[in-house]
Formats: sequence, structure tokens, C-alpha cells
Amino acid sequence: MAICSFCNRNAILYQPYSCKLFCGKHLSDLTEKRVGSTMRKYGMVRNRSRIGVAVSGGKDSTTMLYIMHRLLRKDRSRTLIAITVDEGLRGYRDKSIRCARALCSKLGVEHHIYRFSEYAVKMDTLMRHPKPDPCTYCGVFRRWVLNLAAREHGLDAIAIGHNLDDVVQTFQMNIMRNEPLRIARYTPNGGIATCDEFVPRIRPLLTVPEREVMAYALHNGIPFHNGECPYAGLALRNPVREFINSMEAKYPGTKFRMLNTYLSLIDRLPAGAAQPIRKCKLCSEPSSSETCKRCELLSYAKCKGAKWSVAKKNA
Ligand code: SF4
Repeated sequence: MAICSFCNRNAILYQPYSCKLFCGKHLSDLTEKRVGSTMRKYGMVRNRSRIGVAVSGGKDSTTMLYIMHRLLRKDRSRTLIAITVDEGLRGYRDKSIRCARALCSKLGVEHHIYRFSEYAVKMDTLMRHPKPDPCTYCGVFRRWVLNLAAREHGLDAIAIGHNLDDVVQTFQMNIMRNEPLRIARYTPNGGIATCDEFVPRIRPLLTVPEREVMAYALHNGIPFHNGECPYAGLALRNPVREFINSMEAKYPGTKFRMLNTYLSLIDRLPAGAAQPIRKCKLCSEPSSSETCKRCELLSYAKCKGAKWSVAKKNA
């Protein structure tokens, strides 16, 4: 059994990019230190008292809630509120919601669940007909619902559990799709709010690699669902993830170098590089164009012959 590089406990993780071994305690200390310094560096909770945490029940979001709760537990001026979006993925999201509930109740964090069935259409229903690209719809609907939930609960920001791997994959996908404006919008502290209805998103796990999030969650006994979404196989993210992971395996530190490139790039963007946010003419939710993506996708699916009826609320 390998020994931790910092003490004589057994190691649970080897970090190829630093050539160090970590026991559970030293990995936990490092992870919490990284999250804390990311939050301070980008002023993620500065002047913000009600912080939402998007908790799906997977390892990233539950770990993020657990660490933020630990870091902010003595700070009486801030309240954490967990929001779970139920996309309507039977056999997958129902299990992860149970984990989200269990963690929130263990930590004593207020928890609210918002369902696609009430604000758009369940993913399982959407995929029956006309079989669109699931992740495009799911991502758009999720952002829309999260923003609405954040406003309904008077949140000043909403934390998204994107770890280092997610961030660099998103950066890579935005390059591949030629979407520079998305790069400008995807900032660590969501500091581009130009519309009162838009609740900024923060990404406290920005500098924590996915496998370290997993090791942290297991070591700290955090309840999380480790299943895979039934539609995950169709996502562009999969080949991108494989490519970046293979580069990381050959050239350790690739992910951090990609992160630094992305951060330097958004630092150098001129003010106003991201499109201003305004209100959608159909639903009045924040949008970068006249009609928001959620309304656009719902009308598109209808044109393609979707048989379901759209949303009870805010249709
Ligand atoms: Fe939604 Fe795609 Fe993620 Fe499944 S894999 S939860 S469809 S974004």
C-alpha cells in the first residue's frame, strides 16, 4: 500500500500532475483549500447573502454543497439553499434526488425541487418524439428552470458543480462549435449580469479535477448517485472528455493548462464582449436574443411534430 506524501497514512489518490500521493485527510484539506481560494479569488459570495446550490445528487453537486456548507457554516450572514432540477429521467434522476434529499437533510440545508414537467417537458417525453439532441434541450431547460427557481427564492447567485474537467470540456466544445460568445459568458463568477432577472452562476469546483471530487466524496461519506443518464451516450461531451483525458494521461497537467488558457482569455476580453442579456418576448425570462432558447426549442419541437403539450407554468 502506498503512503501519503505528507504523513504516514495510506494513500487513496495519486496526483500525476504533482507526482504526489494523498491520504483522505490531505486530499480533503487540499480540495477544501482550493474551493475556498476559488471562492475568494472570484468574489463568489462577496456581497451575496443568499447563495443557491444546484444539487442534482451526483458526486460533483453533493461535494460542492458539502464543502460550501463546511466553509460557510460559521458565517451567519450567508444562507445556502439547495435547488434540484428534475428533468424527468426515470430510473436516473429519481435515484439522485434521493441522495440530494439525504444530504440536505443531514446538513440542515433548505431544499427545493423544480420539475421540467411543470416548466417545459419531461426529457423522457421529449425523447419519445421527435427525438432531438437530448443534451441541448436538457441544458437549455435546466438553465431556464434554475434561473427561475433562483429568482423565486431571492438568491443572489447560484453555484453550479462544474469541476475542472467539466470547465475545460465546455471550453473545448465552445471552440469546436465556434461559439466565442459562450466563452465570454461562461465566467467563474457569472459576473456578466446585465439584466435584473438573470441570477449569476458561480463555479466553486473550478480547480478541482473530477477524480479528486470522486475521491473526496467517497472519503467523506457523502451520499451521491453514481449512475449515468440514459441519454449521456449521445452527448458531444463524451468524445471531448475522452480526448482531453487521453491528453492528460500523456501530458499530466493538460487540464490545468487548458483552464489557465481559458481564464487568461476571458480576462483579456473587452468589457461587453458577452452579448447583453434582455427579456424573452415570449416568457420574459433572461435571453441573449429576442426569444430565449427554451421558447425557441419548444416551438421547434412543436414544428417537428411533437405530440406533447407544453408546460403548465410559463408556457
Ligand atoms: Fe441532460 Fe444530457 Fe446530462 Fe442527460 S446527459 S442529464 S440529457 S444534459
